Amino acid sequence: MEPTPPRRLPLRVVPLTGETLDGYLRRLARHNGTPYSPLRIMVRDHPVPAAALSGLTGLTPTNLCRALPELCTADEPVVGGEGHRPARWRSPACTHCAAARGADTTTTVFACAERAVCRKHQRWIGGPHLPCTANQQFSCAAAPALTAAATRHHRLAGIWGTPLTRDAFDDALVVFNYWRKNGILFGSTDPGLRTRRASLGWVADTYIPEPIIDACCYPGTVTLTGVILRLRARIAHGADTRTSVNNAHAEIARTVLIGARPGGAGDPLHYLTSSLLWPSPQTTSHHDEIANSATEHST
Ligand SMILES: [Zn+2]
Repeated sequence: MEPTPPRRLPLRVVPLTGETLDGYLRRLARHNGTPYSPLRIMVRDHPVPAAALSGLTGLTPTNLCRALPELCTADEPVVGGEGHRPARWRSPACTHCAAARGADTTTTVFACAERAVCRKHQRWIGGPHLPCTANQQFSCAAAPALTAAATRHHRLAGIWGTPLTRDAFDDALVVFNYWRKNGILFGSTDPGLRTRRASLGWVADTYIPEPIIDACCYPGTVTLTGVILRLRARIAHGADTRTSVNNAHAEIARTVLIGARPGGAGDPLHYLTSSLLWPSPQTTSHHDEIANSATEHST
């Protein structure tokens, strides 16, 4: 027997992009002055939760699925282009986006790996790989390079796909964390990094919240991500490994380090490139994945 269609609630509540289903249902209940638990049961226990929620809200199932990843089926688009979302991919929503939708600052959303900046509000919001609480979010209007870097980051994910871009970004973060903790970045003459440090207040020998340092490094991290992706693809397509690695090191020196010198044998950049020079069986299969992905993108 078909379940009885739920009665529409009087007040319309629009979900945030990537909002968790329970978070949205709590907001829906609060705004309409109705208990949360019955609403949750009505939606969660319905054979087609998107249809139940559509009946309650008046929003179309398609729009609800676009906003609420937990409603997505294999046929529905999801944020970041990936079907499953481990818990660590939950992040605080941009507080300005949340306020615009009548949500409070505790709203949690599922975020794609390449999210770090709310480009709409020019705010540093961090993400799954760059932890930042709602209270730590800040305006980056004074550092437009951050918004530009976010655009480049999304573009990389569009070209190479989210999983490969996420892996390369993870590797770039490890390298940058080593560089900043070992003072290597302070030797950089990159005018962009100096400007960001000055405008965001990152000075040596002073406690600075991690999101500020992450933000200062972010454009360089995205640039390094692109170098890693291209290097891996070249080698996967049969280019000479040593020449490709040497060229990548030269590009990193010119576009990322800019006057700073990488660390010694313990520098993760060396691990990164030596694993390409002497690949393990596991690394080889990763290269195959890159070759397949790059082939798909070129067709
Ligand atoms: Zn926003």
